[in-house]
Amino acid sequence: MSAASDTTPEISVVVPVFNEEASLAELRERIGKVLEGERYELVLVDDGSSDRSLEILRQLAAEHPEVVVVELARNYGQHQAVLAGFTQVRGRYVVTLDADLQNPPEEIPRILTELRAGHDAVGSVRVRRNDPWLRKQLSALVNRVTTASIGVGMSDYGCMLRGYSAELAAEIALLAEHSPFLPALATTLARNATEIEVAHLEREEGHSKYSPLRLMRLAADLMTGFSLLPIQLVSLTGIAIALLGVGFAAFLLVRRVVVGPEVEGVFTLFAILFAFIGVLMLGVGVVGEYVARIYAEVRRRPNFRIREVRSRGRPTRDA
Ligand code: UDP
Ligand code: MG
Repeated sequence: MSAASDTTPEISVVVPVFNEEASLAELRERIGKVLEGERYELVLVDDGSSDRSLEILRQLAAEHPEVVVVELARNYGQHQAVLAGFTQVRGRYVVTLDADLQNPPEEIPRILTELRAGHDAVGSVRVRRNDPWLRKQLSALVNRVTTASIGVGMSDYGCMLRGYSAELAAEIALLAEHSPFLPALATTLARNATEIEVAHLEREEGHSKYSPLRLMRLAADLMTGFSLLPIQLVSLTGIAIALLGVGFAAFLLVRRVVVGPEVEGVFTLFAILFAFIGVLMLGVGVVGEYVARIYAEVRRRPNFRIREVRSRGRPTRDA
């Protein structure tokens, strides 16, 4: 790679790509139009796609000098893919967005305006978000709980059309947590964060890569990764139930003295017991969530492996 300073990009656009063959060409074209006249690079991170995405990406890199393709060894998930991109960026300003064109590239200049005004993290809120109703309700809940537990307000943790200063992006990449949640991580590290409202479109090609189970895991990452609130809630629930149990025992004792021995109510007892067991299992699950995170961190395995970085049709930097 020629290191001439006039080719050093000022803006790095990072896009994670997982089986998005249908939208890649249009994505590149629209970003090219929007950033015409700017010194920018488009870092496309292939997150182990199994369709023709990688082939298309390589071709784009061969045809367009601003395109850099980062090939990951397998599928590591959206946030890790973006982090892998962060390790390769050269610009002063880093903008992330999704490959499926749900985040319109035409909003990038507005993110840049905020970055150039000195904000080191620019979040975005999806106005008129075009996703299924249930998904939106669940996101709203996750946003509220997270804001409460992290203590840093952010209206829309799920929107990935975002901007970061190069310093902040580098700091985030350095943290290299095992289950990172980028927007939240950025909010806790940023000195001067801001939020803007952006449009959000329906997915036109392919389908969402997030199944309900994957979304649940992501929400668990977000909550347990940033606070102890979930586990503290479990402890509080435990205390409340223990108190209730003691009260109930006292009540049964009094009844025994007043009414005498009786066997009715056995099934009520079962119901109560099951409820307690449910809470107990929830507690074990939450503890497990934290233990799993600790386990992942102490193993210190790399979070992702970059197989190759290509631009101008040839490998430039290897892992
Ligand atoms: N993505 C990824 N790896 C994954 C899942 C998703 O790189 O394991 C990318 C995907 O290609 C897209 C972005 O992350 O660019 C958001 O994914 P998706 O549109 O499926 O999520 P949703 O919009 O439903 O939240
Ligand atoms: Mg999407």
